[in-house]
Amino acid sequence: MLFLGGCNFRCPFCQNADLVLRPESLPGLHIDEVMRSLEKKKGFVDGVSITGGEPLIHGEALLSLMRRLREAGLAVKLDTNGYEVELLREVLAAGLADYVAMDVKTSLAGYSRAAGKALDTRRIEQAIRLIMDSGVQYEFRTTCVPGIVEESDIHEIAALVSGAKHYYLQQFRPNGPMIDAEYEAVRPHDAATLGRFLSLVSPSVQTCGLRGA
Ligand code: SF4
Repeated sequence: MLFLGGCNFRCPFCQNADLVLRPESLPGLHIDEVMRSLEKKKGFVDGVSITGGEPLIHGEALLSLMRRLREAGLAVKLDTNGYEVELLREVLAAGLADYVAMDVKTSLAGYSRAAGKALDTRRIEQAIRLIMDSGVQYEFRTTCVPGIVEESDIHEIAALVSGAKHYYLQQFRPNGPMIDAEYEAVRPHDAATLGRFLSLVSPSVQTCGLRGA
């Protein structure tokens, strides 16, 4: 798994605060070192997940990394929040990802709160449609943070991802340090609530499930 530092969101419940806010404080590897290390593991590693932070903020550097992974014969999974929709379009059009996992944070009305900043939510809708129409394998997933993901949000999320092949609800784990330490004291939704959320969204998607519950 390759963790790319920095992010265009500031989700208050983010558990990668150092990676998002202070990526320069963490040890890093040059892309050439990454490729050399993968070359040594040839035959044992057949794919790489690129995650963050938010990989798509890295523009041409990300495209270059993905091309090199492709040239090395490796499968590539991309984790994203979808906001850099034009770069996502390039990645998909160039066939640089085998699998895309996009976080759908909450309903569009609540998105700015979830992301910790003002957003143009049309870009979220565009990213969802783009992924669904791409022909690439994909999933959407929502971490059920109390106060950010409630039943009314689930109804709207179900409409947003309607027709999607795979959708997952993920239990919120208040393991710090988070970007906003207040979220470390938030108690997760109970199992019955998550089960209700799942039953609300399941008619709208082809397959769905609960993770971490
Ligand atoms: S949880 Fe939010 S702030 Fe943290 S990496 Fe993901 S999109 Fe960025």
